[in-house]
Amino acid sequence: MVKILWFRKNLRLQDNRVLKVFLDELQPDDEILILYIKNNNSYKYFGEKRINFLNGCLNDLENGLHQKGYNLHIFMGNSLNAFNGIIRNKSLVYADRQIEPYCIERDRKISDFLKSKGSELRLVDDTTLFDTGEVLKPDGLPYTVYTPFKNRCESLLSDRHYSEAKCDFGKTKDFKEFAPANVPKYDLKTDEGNTLKGGRTEGLELLKRFYRQGMEKYKSQRDFPGTDGTSLLSPHLHFGTVSIRECYRAALKKLNETNSKDEVRTWINELLWREFYYNITNHFPYVIDGAFKKQYDKIKWSYDKDLFRKWCEGKTGYPIVDAGMRQLNTEGRMHNRVRMITAMFLTKDLFIDWKWGEKYFAEHLIDLDFSSNNGGWQWSASTGCDAQPYFRIFNPYLQSAKFDPEGVYIKKYVPELTNVPVKYIHEPNAMSQEQQKQYGVIIGKDYPFPVVEHSKAKDRVLKEFKAV
Ligand SMILES: Cc1cc2nc3c(=O)[nH]c(=O)nc-3n(C[C@H](O)[C@H](O)[C@H](O)COP(=O)(O)OP(=O)(O)OC[C@H]3O[C@@H](n4cnc5c(N)ncnc54)[C@H](O)[C@@H]3O)c2cc1C
Repeated sequence: MVKILWFRKNLRLQDNRVLKVFLDELQPDDEILILYIKNNNSYKYFGEKRINFLNGCLNDLENGLHQKGYNLHIFMGNSLNAFNGIIRNKSLVYADRQIEPYCIERDRKISDFLKSKGSELRLVDDTTLFDTGEVLKPDGLPYTVYTPFKNRCESLLSDRHYSEAKCDFGKTKDFKEFAPANVPKYDLKTDEGNTLKGGRTEGLELLKRFYRQGMEKYKSQRDFPGTDGTSLLSPHLHFGTVSIRECYRAALKKLNETNSKDEVRTWINELLWREFYYNITNHFPYVIDGAFKKQYDKIKWSYDKDLFRKWCEGKTGYPIVDAGMRQLNTEGRMHNRVRMITAMFLTKDLFIDWKWGEKYFAEHLIDLDFSSNNGGWQWSASTGCDAQPYFRIFNPYLQSAKFDPEGVYIKKYVPELTNVPVKYIHEPNAMSQEQQKQYGVIIGKDYPFPVVEHSKAKDRVLKEFKAV
């Protein structure tokens, strides 16, 4: 029989449920093909740094497979066209289940095509701890609020969810490999220039480092962008170079060893936020086009291109916002606290449509994950499933003073403020003309005046949200 392993999100050879099923079911004389398709047809946003990261993941995967005597075929273009060029005989295609609406649509088309050839697409859950749709309320409906969802997860979680999927490559080497010649190949480059490197080697290193040095301090440090307080694992969790089960097992191990259990539990809660947003996308796929709370699709957001450009470029005159946007533009990542501040600033202070922000993040984040990005944006814009009311508006000055008290993060990404003393680092326009000269930054020339007055933002938000 022809057996095809289609790598998509879970780009690793260890603790991989799809790979395990594929290897376990491999029979002597099966004809096999292991492939990845760099698909132009999936989610439309794919920034350059993210492609670099993906290339790193694919290089690592390809090397790992070679060492085990297998090849990775990397094709490019529309996956339906690719399968059209691949399928000649009755085939069984194994892949990980993806829950994003555009992936479901793609898989439906592929599945229909395979059926028409007497073949089959077999999907295996591997990206989250829980299987798709597994966590439901006692009445069978999906959860829409995080805390009860998390409580339910905790009561359900068992060894079955997080035990290792052991991938046994030793079983058979008696397969024949086939290589379709007429499907366009993807030109795999090395990942150069990224601050975050793709691939399992790097992902495991981060998990080990965080296990040794970060987990026990996570709750205390996670909100301070000037410190090294989080795991940096999000792109690895997205591309699956590290499995969610490995992360959870590491956290459980640490829980058994440490007295700082609360610190570790907070990290587990973040892993469950990821599960929660996957749950939202799965049950409420319309969030791809609009507000979770549908009445908020009627909000008359602003579409001021000039203000939006200033936000994108990190030139709003609010140092913490500008630092975040510049980190995103240069490194393809942003600290979670600053994601919340910049997103809240765009939607509440500038009152610009959250979908513009979601798209900009999607185009620039290495760790772009549709569910977490959409969930984070809707949370910030108060259009999502968050229980907090819409009049929760972060004050960017207070957030900055609380979470970057010494201005370490600001100074790293907004170098024109390097010599500004801590007293003014969060609001440099409060300096007198004399002080501006003394500290080498003239507001309006070297660094912008604030593009809006924060104190006026709340009135507008209240008015517009109340109107719908
Ligand atoms: C507006 C906005 C957009 C976001 N876009 C994305 C995105 O595209 N991709 C993405 O992975 N995360 C996104 N997040 C969530 C969060 O900011 C990142 O997961 C986090 O910054 C990644 O850093 P880390 O790996 O060091 O996380 P850690 O703090 O070490 O957390 C561990 C893991 O838990 C998960 N996680 C943590 N916080 C969240 C959260 N709030 N929501 C969902 N999962 C979480 C991530 O997988 C993360 O790697 C977004 C948040 C906001 C407010």
